[in-house]
Amino acid sequence: MPINVTPIPGLSPEINDLRRRTADVVNAEVLPNEEKLWRSRRDANMSEDEIESSRRESIEVREQIKAKVFQAGLWAPHLPKEYGGAGLDFLSLAYMYEILAYGVGGPTLFGIAAPNSGNASILVKYGTEEQKQKWLLPLIAGEMESGFSMTEPEHAGSDPRSIETEAVRDGDDWVINGHKWFTSNGIDANFFIVMCRAVDPTGEFGSSGRMTQIIVPSATAGVNIVRGIGIFGHPTSDHCEIRYENVRVPMENTLGLVGQGHQAAQDRLGAGRVYHCMNSIGQMWRAFDLMVERTLVRQVHGGLLKDKQFIQGFIAESYMDLQSARLMTINAAEKVAHNDPDARTAISAIKVFVPAAYHRVVDRAIQVWGGAGVSNDLPLSQMYLTARVLRLADGPDEVHKILIAKNILHRYEDGEGWNFGT
Ligand SMILES: Cc1cc2nc3c(=O)[nH]c(=O)nc-3n(C[C@H](O)[C@H](O)[C@H](O)COP(=O)(O)OP(=O)(O)OC[C@H]3O[C@@H](n4cnc5c(N)ncnc54)[C@H](O)[C@@H]3O)c2cc1C
Repeated sequence: MPINVTPIPGLSPEINDLRRRTADVVNAEVLPNEEKLWRSRRDANMSEDEIESSRRESIEVREQIKAKVFQAGLWAPHLPKEYGGAGLDFLSLAYMYEILAYGVGGPTLFGIAAPNSGNASILVKYGTEEQKQKWLLPLIAGEMESGFSMTEPEHAGSDPRSIETEAVRDGDDWVINGHKWFTSNGIDANFFIVMCRAVDPTGEFGSSGRMTQIIVPSATAGVNIVRGIGIFGHPTSDHCEIRYENVRVPMENTLGLVGQGHQAAQDRLGAGRVYHCMNSIGQMWRAFDLMVERTLVRQVHGGLLKDKQFIQGFIAESYMDLQSARLMTINAAEKVAHNDPDARTAISAIKVFVPAAYHRVVDRAIQVWGGAGVSNDLPLSQMYLTARVLRLADGPDEVHKILIAKNILHRYEDGEGWNFGT
């Protein structure tokens, strides 16, 4: 069924128009083509020739839809217009993402797929003009792919300051050695943004070991992709284990200043967490529609599912999960948009609450659909896995709960109560 989008009273005409135009593309272009768009990934029983021709057809349909997104002025909405994006503010993005994510693969079709979107935002903020020309513009144009390489198998990803990958200065070059894993998009990436500890024997950049992001082209000697890590029983994935072994890149590939790496990662993840939650809302909306639609037509034990009270409970609980997750996310986006000092707490709260609510809604939708729910015929099983991963990626639940509690406790220790009215 198409996503049901009508103007929201009180919202600006621009945002309402943006929502309508996004829904038009999703309903007219994405939903009717979902089978073709991602078919090659989903049907393993085809011959080699069939896979190849299906793959070509998928790419063609994707390109056609991307062209329509571009014509509608909706491509790369998170990036400034000068770099080929739509130049939308944070709140407009919030209201747009929940709609575009309703269609399977929506973020890719609108030019905001992770990790490229986060890397592009960081390049906009920290990149030199030369870096923008070389890496950012091709990334936005879809001519390049990228990865973000921070997590290491030997150290806790939930404590990013524990990383040990080193970039040692040698003349005008960095020489990088380190071991990373779960670098998403690693198979296709043309370059990685690698989080390193900078060591400069000349002392020009201050003390050793300061967190620094460095752009590393994937074709550089010493960038060794060990494997695509198999997850959830699949033999492989594009989340890669990579060894950086004596990788030499010029110092002009430093992204931002030496020592700015941690801040840049926080900038990226802060915004990214809101984006992930907005996308999750769109997918929950889709799962909800699929679930309710099914209850209207499926006969079990002499009656429709919609008339069984267990199932009515699923619908009511899913409505509450979706509505509360959505309102929390919009509130967090508003706080970010208004530079509210409590934005950080709100972001951590949605980062915990939304994936869990998403998980519950998809779980109920799968239950309603029975066996079909876990089949590849519906997007629900993929959503289920995505929701589970989101409880780990970009900071596991426990780390965010600690941050929420600390921020709240500080307020009370300072003699103030929490203000829920913002
Ligand atoms: C599918 C997927 C894609 C990813 N993509 C990327 C990517 O593109 N680039 C990248 O760099 N990384 C990526 N990651 C890595 C991800 O960011 C890390 O897995 C995450 O930060 C957790 O780090 P870790 O796996 O080392 O777990 P650990 O840090 O070892 O934590 C394990 C568990 O310990 C618990 N824990 C942690 N701290 C505390 C605490 N203070 N109190 C109580 N409990 C605690 C939590 O339950 C946590 O889940 C990806 C991960 C996945 C699964």
